[in-house]
Amino acid sequence: MKKSVVSKEYQNLQKEIAKLQEQWKKSLNPDVVKPNLDQAAMSAGVPVAALAAIDFDISLFLQWIDELSKLIVDQHQELEEKLGEVRSLLNEETAIRWIDEAFSLNSIYFARFAEENGIDEWIPQFLAENALRPYLQLTADKVQDVAKAVHGAGCPVCGEPARLAQLEGEGKKVIHCPRCHAHWPEKRIQCSHCGNDDHKTIQFITVEGEASSQVLCCEKCKGYTKVIDTRQFISRPSSAILDLTSIHLDFVAQENGYQAAPGNLETNN
Ligand SMILES: [Zn+2]
Ligand SMILES: [Zn+2]
Repeated sequence: MKKSVVSKEYQNLQKEIAKLQEQWKKSLNPDVVKPNLDQAAMSAGVPVAALAAIDFDISLFLQWIDELSKLIVDQHQELEEKLGEVRSLLNEETAIRWIDEAFSLNSIYFARFAEENGIDEWIPQFLAENALRPYLQLTADKVQDVAKAVHGAGCPVCGEPARLAQLEGEGKKVIHCPRCHAHWPEKRIQCSHCGNDDHKTIQFITVEGEASSQVLCCEKCKGYTKVIDTRQFISRPSSAILDLTSIHLDFVAQENGYQAAPGNLETNN
């Protein structure tokens, strides 16, 4: 099997975007995120970022959209016109809506926005999501040590479905969120989605020639998590890049009938 189905070019673009996001995050005053650590809500699985008061700077958000567009156009000049069209549709009001809808991962809204304005479907959500992430990553930095993961609720900071774990240190399994970079430990034999830890209903799928990765599949909820042993990696990639370069494992899991967000499907569709 081909080790990665994502082109080098796309991986490079994602690496450049990750660098930009890191710079953007550092440029934010940490006080723009005021977490509200409501224990009852956190125990019920409400992501911390949904409870936090985040003071978004709309003109900065639009500036980030411009910087992102420029980065994309540097690699794909053919997209210059399309990205320019998208930008011309963005005013303050639309930007606020984009932040809200990106936050709740509302792909239906973005697909409709693209359709109504005759633009490629992937563009609006891609831009909005990537310009939103620095705020989520700043939130994760602030609450990393106090956010509690609840099985079935996804990332305790941003709500992204759990799908990627790394084996670290002595072989400890740590779930990493590729969206906000939050991370939290979990038992080696345990489903990230329903919490099932019965080894009889958990199986591992492996891919030939890839000793360092496996997919944990749960028979109870039909969910899966990619588990990658990064201890032997010469340089450990960020969770966003690791998630991207291991996308073939998602395909293998899905081909076998497992899902990254089991149980969420009805509410998301
Ligand atoms: Zn997250
Ligand atoms: Zn499960």
